[in-house]
Amino acid sequence: MSDQSNECISCRRMGADFECEVCNEFVCKKCVQKLSGETFLYLDKIPENMGHTHYCGACFDREVGPQLEIYEEVLSRAQEVFVFFKTQKKEIPLIKKTREIMVVEGKPDRDETILCLAFMSAQKGFNALIDVEVLSKKVGNHAYQKHEWRGTGVAAEIDAMKLDRQDKQNAIYR
Ligand SMILES: [Zn+2]
Ligand SMILES: [Zn+2]
Repeated sequence: MSDQSNECISCRRMGADFECEVCNEFVCKKCVQKLSGETFLYLDKIPENMGHTHYCGACFDREVGPQLEIYEEVLSRAQEVFVFFKTQKKEIPLIKKTREIMVVEGKPDRDETILCLAFMSAQKGFNALIDVEVLSKKVGNHAYQKHEWRGTGVAAEIDAMKLDRQDKQNAIYR
């Protein structure tokens, strides 16, 4: 779709190859901001203007930039969330928990399912995920079979310092 008359909305150079999917203006290779479809993977619902792949600088800064910063901050906390499975017997130094049971379906594997639950917990400002259950079932026929994952868990706040002490004690008395 390259055309010598396509003027880049950002730098005004001609021959811009891309189009911003928000404002539909042309944007050149140098100025285009690309976003992969995987960027907001753990968001429950991606707002329409955050789900595109090509942006001009102004639209990116307005629609995506601030959200991306928040998202990455939550994701980094999600990776630190303490995960406790329903089957585990270890005592949890629980401070509080939510009533709601969170459900994640359709993720490609077990780890992604758990991380997605952890993300939801971090989004609510909690540091733990308790009562976790992850199940998979085979779906499809002989020719095409895949696993379907379903995870549930409860967002909770735990005393991380206490957990640390418990772990150390367990290590001593084991
Ligand atoms: Zn440009
Ligand atoms: Zn734009």
